[in-house]
Amino acid sequence: MLQDFRSPFDATVVKLLKKAGAQISGKTNCDEFGMGSLNIHSLHGPVINPFRVDSRRAAGGSSGGSSAAVAAGLCDAALGTDTGGSIRLPASYCGVVGLKPSYGLVSRYGVVSYADSLDTVGVLAQDVERVEKVFECINKRDCNDPTSVDERLREKAHLLATKSIQRWSGESLKGLRIGIPQEYFPSELTSSSYHILASIRHLLSQLHSLGASIVPVSLPSTAYALSAYYVIASAEGSSCLSRYDGIQYGLRVPPSPESNFTSTSRTYSPSRSQGFGREVRKRILLGTYALSADAFDNYFLQAQRVRKMVRDDFDHVFSIPNVLYSKLSFEEKDANDHGEDGVDILIHPSAIRTAPRLDDVLDVSCDRDTLQDYVQDVLTVPASLSGLPAMSVPMRPDAGLNQPRDNQQSDENWPIGVSIVGQWGTDELVLKVGRVIERLSRR
Ligand code: GLN
Repeated sequence: MLQDFRSPFDATVVKLLKKAGAQISGKTNCDEFGMGSLNIHSLHGPVINPFRVDSRRAAGGSSGGSSAAVAAGLCDAALGTDTGGSIRLPASYCGVVGLKPSYGLVSRYGVVSYADSLDTVGVLAQDVERVEKVFECINKRDCNDPTSVDERLREKAHLLATKSIQRWSGESLKGLRIGIPQEYFPSELTSSSYHILASIRHLLSQLHSLGASIVPVSLPSTAYALSAYYVIASAEGSSCLSRYDGIQYGLRVPPSPESNFTSTSRTYSPSRSQGFGREVRKRILLGTYALSADAFDNYFLQAQRVRKMVRDDFDHVFSIPNVLYSKLSFEEKDANDHGEDGVDILIHPSAIRTAPRLDDVLDVSCDRDTLQDYVQDVLTVPASLSGLPAMSVPMRPDAGLNQPRDNQQSDENWPIGVSIVGQWGTDELVLKVGRVIERLSRR
């Protein structure tokens, strides 16, 4: 097993794995504090995607080191953190399986916080079986983590997931309702990545021929999710990282004798300027601004409103109720089950593209549109804002095209991931559907 660099000491998850007999073989590279989508914001340099090393492509971020290690066969499984897509995106780029569990199931005790209301610890491995094995081991309540969900809610969600699985698991997939959110096929995807669409289409026709119902659904607030995510994540990040003050915590850089700052700034400013990389400094500034009295309503509050809308959209399309927010008792909700209209899970492409070339994304000239880095997360952040379980599983790049191309430089020869998203707490359902998709993609 390898663990992400964001776990500085024996986090609860690592202890659980050791107790179960896992060997921890090292720590992996990641974007500084998990802030990034391409693993290009690391003190240790960028991770090179091992799919074809000579092509020098990004491994994705922020847990790019973990996904690259898994893809290169350096370990059986690796831990990663996913705040807005940092497990699913690198899993998709490197061609491995990556699970972001439901928020609150896996302990974050011992993990350096980026954004507390979004951070999750998850698993990367070469197949769903291994991911499941590790997840089962770390899916435990931990009283050291105040956001760790109690047994009662876990049990409720487990019963609902089991009920759904029992309806369809068998010879065929008859009874499984798969939702395809129309907003998850944005222009960024349709214009340049035809092969991703073709592969998804092919997969859906396979699932349909096995008996699953494919249901088009709409999640109308998706368009606002990315902006809301970056406001909330930066705001929480600025607060979480305020402990790196150079006094009690973090790097201490003595002020230069010529500086004409006030005494407080003289201490903070050099430590916080030199102690963080460029991207982290940018996020802290943006986040602090979003929380300032002038901007709070327009940015932070507005983003929280969008977050609720995104969550409501999901609750609306799933047949399984959200046990965290449902006002009805479990039994009442069960009776009110809108099973006929709702879907069991959602499926969508994990990313809008395949792994980009490092030379393109490392270009530090001012011409480069860094906004494009943030856009990579457009399909992963909604599940993060809603705390839902989501897993990226590789699809064969040529699954839909049926015409493998020899050109190694072609995007079409690089791994593509498909994401499976479930209602809160139904991680086992997500894993089960993941196994089906994995089987179909390997045929
Ligand atoms: N790319 C996103 C960000 O930079 C997500 C990162 C993550 O999930 N840790 O915030």
